[in-house]
Amino acid sequence: MPEGDTIFRAARTLNRALVGSVVTQFETVFPRLSRVDFDEGICGRTVEHVEARGKWLLVQFSGGPILLTHMLMSGIWHIYRPGESWRLPRSAMRVMLATESIVAVAFNIQIAEFHTKESLRHRAGFAGLGPSLLEDDFVPDDAAKRLLANPDLEVGEALLKQSVVAGIGNVFKSDICFACGVHPFRKVGSLTRREAIDLMSTAQRFLLANVINSAGPQIVTYTGMRRTTARGNPSERLWVYKRMGKPCRRCGAPIQSRKQGLDARSTFWCPQCQPLRISVLEKVRSRNS
Ligand SMILES: [Zn+2]
Repeated sequence: MPEGDTIFRAARTLNRALVGSVVTQFETVFPRLSRVDFDEGICGRTVEHVEARGKWLLVQFSGGPILLTHMLMSGIWHIYRPGESWRLPRSAMRVMLATESIVAVAFNIQIAEFHTKESLRHRAGFAGLGPSLLEDDFVPDDAAKRLLANPDLEVGEALLKQSVVAGIGNVFKSDICFACGVHPFRKVGSLTRREAIDLMSTAQRFLLANVINSAGPQIVTYTGMRRTTARGNPSERLWVYKRMGKPCRRCGAPIQSRKQGLDARSTFWCPQCQPLRISVLEKVRSRNS
């Protein structure tokens, strides 16, 4: 599943490429979308704004219609010049949006809907979305409160819950826990307020670090080389994710891994740097500090 930084990059790239331009062509394989196009006419409208919210991407057209897409597992947006050949087969095309100078193609997206501002407010899964880690107004303290409101969830599950905060995917989940010294299988209810704030500000830092150094105009969407360690060596770019059995970069203990939550997503941690139980004394100390 693409993480928030991927969608954020896609939105920023699409924003740069499309905003202010008039749609000259609109195609889709989704019958419900074509009907809206037929009824309301997307061609001739100006693209006003493209933005990411969590794992959703929104394209706002002049006069009201909003195209809402979700990348799920394999969805991706590409940008081409007119006439340039596509790097994915036409059969994978779901939505295509062209202006005079740009062709934007969504491949393999599984959710694409037209909305108004009003209908978006009631869209299940979107309406309850938590604050986006990549927005300027993200406040780790407030996000920590949302996190702590789920005391019965394990930390690793809660970080993926998009109604808590929007944008964390499975790669960052494990590395955020590691960076904060929090065992991902601890219950949220065992976290101190300080740990919760630390998790949220670390999440924000990791995601931001992965969108800063992008991208020429022809960039499509970000596909790899996600980093959390800030090390130059590409083989050292993550702390624990997919490093099962390898030595911890801090203490040398072998990294462990186990499936977590209803979706059985793989979770990685260091048994020494992230103890499952913190001592009561430590908890009191951290609560009082
Ligand atoms: Zn360690």
